[in-house]
Amino acid sequence: MRPIELTPLFASLQSLSGIGPRLLVLMKKCVNLPAGITEPRVLDLLWHLPTGVIDRRAEPAIAEAVPGSIATLKVRVLKHKAPPRGNTRAPYKVQVEDDTGKLDLVFFHAERKFIERQLPVGEERYVSGRIELYSDKLQMSHPDYIVPPEARGELPMLEPVYPLTAGLSGKIVQKATRQALERLRPVPEWQEATWIKSRGWPTFGDALQRLHKPADASDVSPAGAPWQRLAYDELLAGQLALALVRQNFKSRPGRSVKGDGRVRARLADALPFALTNAQREAMREIEADMAAPRRMLRLLQGDVGSGKTVVALLAMAIAVEAGAQAALMAPTEVLARQHLETIAPLADKADLRIALLTGREKGRARKDILERLASGDIDIIIGTHALFQADVVFRDLAFAVIDEQHRFGVHQRLSLQSKGNGTGTDVLVMTATPIPRTLVMTHYGDLDVSRLTEKPPGRKPVVTKAIPTDAMERLIERLRAQLAEGAQVYWVCPLIESSEASELAAAEERHAHLIQLFGKESVGLLHGGMPDKAKDAAMEAFALGQLKILVATTVIEVGVNVPNANIMVIEHAERFGLAQLHQLRGRVGRGTRESFCMLLYKAPLGETARQRLEMMEATEDGFLIAEKDLELRGGGEVLGARQSGMPGFRVAEVPGFEALLTAARDDARMILTADPMLSSPRGQALRTLLYIFECDEAVRLFRAA
Ligand code: ADP
Ligand code: MG
Repeated sequence: MRPIELTPLFASLQSLSGIGPRLLVLMKKCVNLPAGITEPRVLDLLWHLPTGVIDRRAEPAIAEAVPGSIATLKVRVLKHKAPPRGNTRAPYKVQVEDDTGKLDLVFFHAERKFIERQLPVGEERYVSGRIELYSDKLQMSHPDYIVPPEARGELPMLEPVYPLTAGLSGKIVQKATRQALERLRPVPEWQEATWIKSRGWPTFGDALQRLHKPADASDVSPAGAPWQRLAYDELLAGQLALALVRQNFKSRPGRSVKGDGRVRARLADALPFALTNAQREAMREIEADMAAPRRMLRLLQGDVGSGKTVVALLAMAIAVEAGAQAALMAPTEVLARQHLETIAPLADKADLRIALLTGREKGRARKDILERLASGDIDIIIGTHALFQADVVFRDLAFAVIDEQHRFGVHQRLSLQSKGNGTGTDVLVMTATPIPRTLVMTHYGDLDVSRLTEKPPGRKPVVTKAIPTDAMERLIERLRAQLAEGAQVYWVCPLIESSEASELAAAEERHAHLIQLFGKESVGLLHGGMPDKAKDAAMEAFALGQLKILVATTVIEVGVNVPNANIMVIEHAERFGLAQLHQLRGRVGRGTRESFCMLLYKAPLGETARQRLEMMEATEDGFLIAEKDLELRGGGEVLGARQSGMPGFRVAEVPGFEALLTAARDDARMILTADPMLSSPRGQALRTLLYIFECDEAVRLFRAA
């Protein structure tokens, strides 16, 4: 159970005074919620960290006030100057003074009563805001603060600045945050005393206090001690959770799954190619894992086009040879179907009974599949997250493959394992993103990794060129020549931040444009909003070569395989991340034709975008690209977490991320070696840490053990 002292932090934000349903909606827009949480809680507000501070510490005399700067002034109210009657445009002014000079406080669209109450003539007030010069006179329009001398303490001399949204003011967020801070109860220190000391880090509670009530600008810097401390807390919680999952995995009995090679032999006969050495090596590792009487959790990492699907199929065949079932789960509908189409002809020759289960199978069809799964009439099921649903029951699931894993969360991975018969389902996680070592650690912990480092033979390099959008005419002429020779083209339309609608419009517009040039029958369209049938039809027509050009949004990013397609055009390539560009490019260069990737960009390019495009031109090595990506973007986004809606870090993306992560991993390892039950005093404190970062799943596992 979650420690009682944390309860107030997990209450709804509405439990704070002043936050009602309307503000809750606005808060929800601006705070970052973890997956599955729909209503912001007190804790979510505490993680909503400032981006900077407004410094009100300058307290000059009026004569010394510097125009343009923020200042806090101690003044006497001299007189009110209402605007002339009938002139609603003119501001309401209040003249104030100190011993050195005079200044006007200026209010537009003023509410007169309010101002009279705030600034009674003859009284002293502290006012704080930006000093301006208006026709040679000093003024301050709409002071941020007006307080009587006795309330001076309420004036935040260093005011945190928060990311906001329309309708939500900084003052409201500050007020709510102050209340949220009061909900913090003392928690035991979970970090090692010497480590904290060597870093000069504050306690957890003090770190939050300093971030939200800064005493110095450095208090809110991501490189500053308070933020670094919290970043490390988050990383340690994550590493510890992963280590716990892994420990649990290894400690519970698994099963030994051994095949006789019968199905694999038939599959090998059906394959039109020989396995690469890398594929063979990966198979050897997987086979050994499955045969061992413990649970398998292995990552199969291979660049796009390295041939992971075949490895998955052969590995699943082992489970079938052993008389059990296997599942292959893809992150999208399109991909699941594609897997089915690749696998079906091979499965047919090997007498494997396969089926598809996605959100689209409904009613009778779905019921039928569920029955056959439960009775064991299906050997291999291919699907999407629909496979996670509670009523999906297997007769005997021994092996699960999760493709493009970074799109699924940890808890989903755990829930698929629970579909096994309690004997432990072996899990193979496949990822096409060539994740650098450090990020493998973040997201998977210290698991076993097989790498497909070699591409199937005969692949030609993809010639990559970045060209300005202005050159599109010329590009289209070259495409015309290529198409005449049988080429096929993916045309990816711009990614437009946070607006699916306009992304769609762009794709539709380009589709219409290309139809005019190349004819209706040659140009297809594929985007996420299309009805499923239409999506399939477009994909199939392209795969069959009926369509020459497929205009698409990024739905084709992952995994789609049409070997004849040899040209990739990416519009507004400057808006894509490196990893995504690399994924997209991976769709071509799969066949025997010479392949091209044309990166259309809108000039002028920013520095980061320029580096990205240059990197794409320079290399096809996914690992190099991933490392560059990490350098350009910093940690959490490389996995595409943001695009896929998977929660990233709350506070950990700070300068020094990698070093902190490595330290956290080593720390987690040492902790569990010394105290596998987390029962020492530090262990108990660490449980609190896990709850704060909502790794409840891991704690639950741990309690079951
Ligand atoms: P990814 O690793 O990106 O999922 P795929 O599994 O889709 O790659 O494989 C890409 C293409 O390479 C497919 O057309 C597949 O049939 C082919 N392929 C896989 N292994 C080999 C091999 N050993 N020799 C030749 N072609 C192969
Ligand atoms: Mg694939």
